[in-house]
Formats: sequence, structure tokens, C-alpha cells
Amino acid sequence: MFLRNLSQSVTSIQGIGPSNLSKLAKLGIRSAGDLLTHYPRGWEDRENIIKLCEYRKGKVCTKVTVLEKEWIGFGAMKTMKVYIEDESAQGSLLCFKRPWLEKLFIKGEKYMIHGVFRVKYGEIQSSSFEAQPLSSQGSFGKIIPVYPLTSGLKQNQLRSFIQKTMESFVNEIEDELPAFIIEKNNLLNKKNAIKEIHFPSSMDMLERAKKTLIYEELFYLEAMVAKRSIERKNKFLVSQKLKIDKPDADCGFSPLQKRLIERLPFSLTKGQLDAVKEINRDIASNVPMARLLQGDVGSGKTLVSFLASLAAVEGSLSKNDTGTHNLKPLKGQAAIMAPTELLARQHAENAARLLEPLGVKIAFLTGNIKSQGRRELLKNLASGDIDIIAGTHALFSSDVIYKNLKLAVIDEQHRFGVTQRAKITAKGENADLLMMSATPIPRTLALTVFGDMDVSVIGDMPEGRKPVITHLAKQSNEKKVYDFVRRELEKGRQAYFVYPLIDGQGDIKDAVSMAQRLSKEIFANNKTELIHSKLPEEEKKKIMDSFRKGEIDILAATSVVEVGVDVPNAACMVIEHAERFGLSALHQLRGRVGRGSEQSYCFLVYSDEYTQDAKTRLLVMLNHSDGFVIAEEDLKLRGPGQIAGTEQSGYLVLGIANPVRDIKELEKAREDVFSILENDPDLLLENHQIIAKVLREAPPFCDVEL
Ligand code: ADP
Ligand code: MG
Repeated sequence: MFLRNLSQSVTSIQGIGPSNLSKLAKLGIRSAGDLLTHYPRGWEDRENIIKLCEYRKGKVCTKVTVLEKEWIGFGAMKTMKVYIEDESAQGSLLCFKRPWLEKLFIKGEKYMIHGVFRVKYGEIQSSSFEAQPLSSQGSFGKIIPVYPLTSGLKQNQLRSFIQKTMESFVNEIEDELPAFIIEKNNLLNKKNAIKEIHFPSSMDMLERAKKTLIYEELFYLEAMVAKRSIERKNKFLVSQKLKIDKPDADCGFSPLQKRLIERLPFSLTKGQLDAVKEINRDIASNVPMARLLQGDVGSGKTLVSFLASLAAVEGSLSKNDTGTHNLKPLKGQAAIMAPTELLARQHAENAARLLEPLGVKIAFLTGNIKSQGRRELLKNLASGDIDIIAGTHALFSSDVIYKNLKLAVIDEQHRFGVTQRAKITAKGENADLLMMSATPIPRTLALTVFGDMDVSVIGDMPEGRKPVITHLAKQSNEKKVYDFVRRELEKGRQAYFVYPLIDGQGDIKDAVSMAQRLSKEIFANNKTELIHSKLPEEEKKKIMDSFRKGEIDILAATSVVEVGVDVPNAACMVIEHAERFGLSALHQLRGRVGRGSEQSYCFLVYSDEYTQDAKTRLLVMLNHSDGFVIAEEDLKLRGPGQIAGTEQSGYLVLGIANPVRDIKELEKAREDVFSILENDPDLLLENHQIIAKVLREAPPFCDVEL
């Protein structure tokens, strides 16, 4: 029986009655299998005694005798205090909010104590400890599991439930990995892994048990990814009866790409060049491109997408025997999708400026373009009169028909979620797909999250950028920040002020009321405008245009300016209540400045009420400017369930594995799975029967949509 299929109700386990049933249900535990997969959140090693007098070394773990107990304090503060001693010293235990401990501790009896001790008022004290009568010791072994709990359920109860479940069921548990994989990776079999994860016989065995369960989980995650990826490629190859071009085919630039590059006032960075080469190679190949382009804010991804669009418009690049390009007469179209109208419009304007002189027709489409204008536009798109269209997700609504969509670009991919892919590429026949993201994730993880995508990375920045200088400032020092910004405004620079809320009441500054204060009080001599997502699009456009032209000095905004906005003269970014923004938003916002030749500044103004996490985030921003580093810190802080764009799908919400922390295991599992499935896609070999059976009878991740 597979562990997941042990469906006997927990009520079959001795000691679990109706009241515990409902408590366990709160932890999502209903069956014996659930109990056994309720893994400990930690373990206490009681093998190594740390005596009271050694409390500085770490958690004390020692045998004590109770000397005396008494109630101290008054009213709500009233608590029991227990005096103890071991062979090294005397100490005391404070039992805050744990009145039941009064019954546990009996004068003269011996207990095993495990806890954090400090010296207070000359006494070695602890208020955070666990205690067990010595007489009941030994039933759990020396390394004790510590489980996630819910109110009313105690550690020892849960330990005993799990122990009993183990006794009744553990021998039924079947392996879910083939023997050769277990051996190759030095894992435990499933039965032992489950035993050892709950009640380890040694720290070494515990590590192997963890490794086994983590590996197994990632193995099936990758199996799902691999199956999908192989199926798609096979389907394509069969239906097209085509061979994949040699992946190293060398594609130079197309004529239009060359003309654009010649016209640019700067040269492409190495990262941009490499990315365009990889994209050209994909476009020339017969298998549709599925490529993720990762590059920090400001690394020039937009230009790469324009170059890719040109190749699509010209018709596919392909290499002939003489090494020059054949231009197929068929003209293709490209669609560039951005998450906000502001950004989509900016792309359309830039594309018009750069590409229309080359004879390419550009258009702009959003949900707000209605009636006559929209009809006209859709007609031109369907007839092929438009070559490149930039827009919001409206680009892919059902009534939009392309004559020949060759390339779909998704900018700021992390804003869209992972599920929109199919809908988008379905607008063209085997359209190529380019997704762009400024929140990079490690390669193997990207390959997992994005299934069968290839990954390109722009690792460098255009030359001549001055790093943005970042300051942290307490809200009580806001005047200094305002004075600094005033001096920059006097030099002719512009500034963004960003707030966490559009409008509000109470202690949190909001964009609407601060726009008032900024324009009337703080910067009375400058022109301030307010921008946020609830303004009509026309209004937003007008404001952004005049900010770009320099007619407005200060933009009071919400994070609507977070993505993509490019105004080189803006040199100050002030983020108020910075403690309320996530790392990726802060990094994106800071990326709005430092785009021109002048020195730029970012002020992170924080109020007194911040969490430890917020403090960590602010320090990461202060100490790092590299988006790749920041993205990694962000992943560490928020966990993989938060990987950009996957939040809603429930994808990567795993049991014991954490693909960020366990990236090495993920790589190994991925390699193993791909080599199995590439050779035996239908899992017919004897060696692979277990995998086929798991996928058939107890498929993990079956409710996850990709
Ligand atoms: P992001 O990667 O964040 O989308 P953008 O595409 O908005 O970055 O580029 C930021 C700015 O850098 C734009 O103003 C763009 O014109 C400019 N830029 C792009 N490539 C280069 C380059 N190779 N040299 C100098 N400036 C560049
Ligand atoms: Mg961009």
C-alpha cells in the first residue's frame, strides 16, 4: 500500500476520540496516512546531555529533581515557579500560562527537562521548556520529534498517536521509488524513512530519512513536469513530422535586426547579444520557441523583445547551405503583452519610435479601446496590416484574431501567472513564446516552474549606469528626506513618491492625501500630480506624458509605477512605509530611477511598526543592488510557494521539500526523472513499474494545475 492510500480513519487509533478527531482535522489530519505524513517541524536531540551549568552552550537537556514549587505574581501575571536541580546546579522553571504543569511536577520526583535557560536575578531560569517524568521516558527514543500543533493538542499526545499509527501500519508501506534509484542516491526505503523521520535512531539516520522523503517528493514533481514536456514535444514532432534543427545552428542577425541595431545610439550588451542569438536560433528551428528571458530591472529586455519581434515579422529565419539567411516570404506578426496599460503604452510608443522608421506597422490595444477604434484595429490585425501590437491581456481575448501570429512576448511574466501560456500561443499556429522576467530564479527551479521552457539570462547592464544610492530613513526623519529631494528638484530632477495605499484613513500614509500634502505643504513650489490604478486610463496617460516631458516634478503614486516605467530624468524614488512592500516590489520601484546620466537616489522611509521580516527586507535593499541576489533573498524569505506567478495555482506547495533550499536534490531528481522518461516514456520497463504504479494509483500533485 502506498502511504498516501492508507485511508483508515484516525479514529481507529487508540486514544483518538471525537474531541481529538476535530483537533486533528484542524491540522488536516483525517487518515492514518495523514498522521504518518504529519512530519515533525524539528527534533530535539536528547542524546547529548547539556547540564544546567552549561546553559550557555545551547538548549539544556538534563535530568533534574524537583525541589519545591510555588505560585508567584498576582492576577493575570500569576504563575507557578518550580525549583529544580541537576548534578551541576540549581535552577527554576516558570510555567507561564501552563497551569496543568502544577499536576505534573511533584516534589522530590525526577524529570527530563529540555529548554532554553538564561540567568535572571542570579538564577538559571527557563520559561520555554519541555518536561517529562523520568518514569515515562524512553518510549520515544533519544531524538524526539516536535510537531506542528493546534490548540488543545499537546506534543506528547501527538507523539503517541503517531507512534501507535506507526506500530499498526508501517509494515504495509510500499516503496514509491525504484530500487535502483534508492540505491544510486543512497536513500532509505520508504518504510524506514517514515520510521526514522518520526523517531530517529540517530542523527545520521534522520538526515537520510529527510533526504529520502525530500528526494521522493521532488522526483514526482519532476516526473509531472517531464511527462508534460515530453508529451508536448512528441506531439509536435509527430504532427509536423519534422526534425529539430541542430541546436547549435548559428544564426546571425536578420536584415531588419541589423538595421535597428545600426540605428541605436548605443551598442547591445553582451547579455542582450547572446539572448538575441538564442532567440534567433529558436525562431529558425522547427519546434516552437518556449523561452524565458531573465534579466535585472533596466538590463534592456524590451529591446531584445523588439529584435525578436522583427525576426518574427520578417518571416522565420532559417539557415541555408551557404550560411546566409533565407527570408521566407510569409510575413509574421508579433504581440507584446504587458501587465499594465501604462507599460503596454510605453512599449507601443517605443516600438513606434524605433521600428516604424524601418517600415514596420505598430499598434496598441487594451480593454479600454472600444467600439469603432477597436473594430478598425481588429480588422487590421486580422488582415495582417499590423505587424507588431503591444497591449495588455486584451491582446488575447477571444475576439482578437491574428493573420499570422508568429511570436508572443509576455513582459513582466511574473505578473501573469503560469497558466496563461496555452491561451496565448493558441492565437497562432505554433507561435513562438518569449516570456520576460525581472525576478529571476535559479535555473533548475525555472525549468521546473515553467515546465519545458528554455532559459536565457542577461547577466550584465548597459554601460555608464550609476548605481542608485539607497538610504533608509525613519519616518520621524522624513523632513531630512524631503529637504534632500527638494535640492534635487531645484537641480531640475524629478521624483517619485510611492505609498502602499491609494486612499485610506488612520496611520498609514496614502497616495491621495499625501499628494495633497506634497503639493500644498512640502513642495509648494513644485508641481505634483497623483497617479494610481483607479484613475481612468486617459488620465493616467496624460499624467505620465507630462511627467515624461518634465511638466510635472513629482509623481505621488502607488505601486502602479512599479513595472517598466522609464523616465530617465527622474532621480529620486521615495518609498514611504517601505516596510509594507515586498522585496521584489521595492527592487522594481528602485529600478525606476538610475536610468539617466545623473546620480539617482532611493529613500526607503519606514515607520516604527515593522516586523523582523520587514527589517530584513530593508537591509537586503540597502546592501544589494543586484536583482539576482535580491530575488534569491526574496525566495529565502517568502518560500517557494510564492514564486512569481505561481501563487494562485497552489503549485510548489510541497510537503517536506523546499525546492529553493533543496535545489541540489531538485537537480538530481530532475536528472534521474528525465533520463528515465526520455528512454522509456510509457514506463514499460520492469525497473520503472513502481513509478507507473504510483502515477496510476496515488498520483502526487494530481490537483495541481500547470
Ligand atoms: P528592462 O530590462 O527593465 O525592461 P528596459 O528594456 O526598460 O529594461 O531598458 C531600460 C533602459 O535602457 C531603456 O531606456 C533602454 O532604452 C536602455 N537600454 C537598453 N539597452 C541598452 C544598451 N545596450 N545600452 C544602453 N542603454 C540601453
Ligand atoms: Mg521591462
